Amino acid sequence: MAMLERMDWYDLARTTNWTPKYVQEDELFPPELSGSMGITLEKWESYDEPFKQSYPEYVNIQRQKDAGAYSVKAALERSKLYENADPGWISVLASHYGAIARQEYHASLSEARMARFGKAPGQRNMATLGMMDEIRHGQIQLFFAHEHVSKNRQFDWAHKAMDTNEWAAIAARHMFDDIFACRSATEIALMLTFAFETGFTNMQFLGLAADAAQAGDWTFSSLISSIQTDEARHAQIGGPMIPILIANGKKAEAQKFIDIALWRSWKLFSVLTGPIMDYYTPLKDRKQSFKEFMHEWIVKQFERSLIEVGLERPWYWDQLLDEIDWQHHGMHIGTWFWRSTIWWNSAAGVTPEERAWLEEKYPGWNETFGTVWDVITENVVEGRMEQTYPETLPVICNMCQLPINATPGPAWRARDVPLIHNNRRYHFCSEVCKWVFEQEPSRYEGHQTLVDRFLAGQVQPMDLGGALKYMGLAPGEIGDDAHQYAWADAARAERIKKAG
Ligand code: MN
Ligand code: MN
Repeated sequence: MAMLERMDWYDLARTTNWTPKYVQEDELFPPELSGSMGITLEKWESYDEPFKQSYPEYVNIQRQKDAGAYSVKAALERSKLYENADPGWISVLASHYGAIARQEYHASLSEARMARFGKAPGQRNMATLGMMDEIRHGQIQLFFAHEHVSKNRQFDWAHKAMDTNEWAAIAARHMFDDIFACRSATEIALMLTFAFETGFTNMQFLGLAADAAQAGDWTFSSLISSIQTDEARHAQIGGPMIPILIANGKKAEAQKFIDIALWRSWKLFSVLTGPIMDYYTPLKDRKQSFKEFMHEWIVKQFERSLIEVGLERPWYWDQLLDEIDWQHHGMHIGTWFWRSTIWWNSAAGVTPEERAWLEEKYPGWNETFGTVWDVITENVVEGRMEQTYPETLPVICNMCQLPINATPGPAWRARDVPLIHNNRRYHFCSEVCKWVFEQEPSRYEGHQTLVDRFLAGQVQPMDLGGALKYMGLAPGEIGDDAHQYAWADAARAERIKKAG
């Protein structure tokens, strides 16, 4: 029997809307789940997905992708790559798996919501494949991480992190719940696929794949490249919705949802991806700095795709550009200093060579963040280890759930942006996090930061031991300095030479 070409039947076959006779349209597509904003079915039908694939084509290609990644893993299993890798690279893997693996599975639930409640048939089609993509991403990243569990319990956090009250897990969950889980099909298309995926997954997955290849970790490189090719497809779900929203008077809404998601993604990536790229990845393997990746993928490419679909740059664009210069350096000092409260080992990344690289990529680094590391290095060299650990809690932002911090030195302008709402005082790291809160206070008002919980007596006993127990960090999982302070050796040698 002769087969039709895909494009001879695709448009007809995916026209799956009909006029409901036994229920109202709003019963079939409840507005709070569809996010239809009063736009009717016929109008959504103009949605034209840029990526058209049939189910048999999808399954065939996915099978090949899986076969490729799993066979690279199998071939390299006995290569001792893990044993020979720089400890900083192991930290990249452990933090990535804990923060990402389960959120991939989480994203499949969001794709499923679009697959059921999206009013545009093309959106439902793409989201059905996207849902299967994300199930695969959850499974493959749990499986690949599992290989390392017998050598390092921190890899168990690929599965465990999102079920704990560890602070970075709380921050990740707060953000992903907001932009993935607790949103309508339209909002998910804008926030998860358009803002998060076309912007930040590109950076995480293409950036890390490049670094992994440099580091010789072909298993990880092929794993995340295999994921990225799926992301590149289903990230396109959001784009075609935007002209429909604009044509129906909903431009302001579309812009707002994207602005919220982009900012929230930025804050989380400043703590997870910034330190990974600029401090943990071995110097010789760094393809580009975090700032360069941000400029390429977010500032240039994302800005272009925003303008292409008829939207504007977010109102906080200047502040974002400013933060790209410094925010992740402060987050890195925070995660290193509070290193016992994370599920990976923080790589300080401040040998003289690494500091020279940081100064080159971020002119002024030595005069600002470098001065903090001077003090830390001095304490390490002098053996005053107790002074390299915190005795207090940071002020945490009630939106991004991350410590409020800024550039040390004369430029210091860390400030708490407070808000009194329903007799409760909230703290924000920035006007933008406060603005996100104000867009829908009822969505966020009940949440307590880790510090709020501590002050409310939920962490017992009220010391580091109690905090580690509350966060679910067991011995063998608690973070430490990745290189056992070897980065201070040069400063120590210098000291001995001077003394001698
Ligand atoms: Mn994914
Ligand atoms: Mn995705």
